[in-house]
Amino acid sequence: MVSLHLTCPSDERDVLLAALWEAGTAGVTETDLPGNECALRAFFESPVDHSEFMDYSPRWEQEPDVDWAAESRAAWPARVVGERWFIVPPWNEDAVPEGRVRLVINPGIGFGTGNDLTTQLCLEALEREWSAGDAVLDFGTGSGILALAAHALGSKTVAACDIDDDAVRAARLDLPEAIGFFTGSIRSIRDASIDLLLANLNAETIANHAAEMRRVLRPGGRVIISGVPPRHGERVSKALTANGIPPREVHEEQIWLRIVC
Ligand code: SAH
Repeated sequence: MVSLHLTCPSDERDVLLAALWEAGTAGVTETDLPGNECALRAFFESPVDHSEFMDYSPRWEQEPDVDWAAESRAAWPARVVGERWFIVPPWNEDAVPEGRVRLVINPGIGFGTGNDLTTQLCLEALEREWSAGDAVLDFGTGSGILALAAHALGSKTVAACDIDDDAVRAARLDLPEAIGFFTGSIRSIRDASIDLLLANLNAETIANHAAEMRRVLRPGGRVIISGVPPRHGERVSKALTANGIPPREVHEEQIWLRIVC
């Protein structure tokens, strides 16, 4: 790849840009210079005839060869979380370390790539709290990562909801069919049908839905919550306690709480 560098008065920029696109550029960067001037850098596979740009101090430069596909793959390395998880993007072929479960998540889609601490806090608690036979609800599923993790552990019944229809559609396309993704809220879930509820949501949503969360839990049901900043911890804990799901454990890490009920 090569680039053609030009300098022009700012009011000629648009005309020059059009001429560069006409000449077949793959892309142009623009930088404002002092004195109402502008620097353009137009990328080409190989040098082209630049005679029409002679008034704009043309200069060619060789660009380093960058494998952009490889670069973007390198930006999403495999990630180990907690004791059990090995989170990878779809193109990753690294072997799963012994004792870990592979979670394949497309990083472009929805909140929940595995890079966020709130997601990781939930995953860490999930590996401790999960029991065989648990029916799981992922309330606010985003990318579907927590639902996928429960499915990967062996839960046969995993429901996952989100009010963001785009996230739900993407998760449904990407993740195992056995996970019951739906657009909507916890209100659609039957009474007393869930053993383990995962809720990585903000403080207000948790506090406002505490009664609904209690309603869907079976006797002995457990809840894993994250996404609550410490300053809202007391309010959320009170709402949970008032609705019959008192916190058993509150863990603080960096700017987040994880609450297990
Ligand atoms: N569970 C994922 C994503 C958490 S982000 C993870 O742990 O990484 C929170 C998600 O909750 C967002 O996708 C947002 O759209 C969704 N959400 C917010 N309020 C909601 C509500 N009332 N009902 C369902 N989903 C909700």
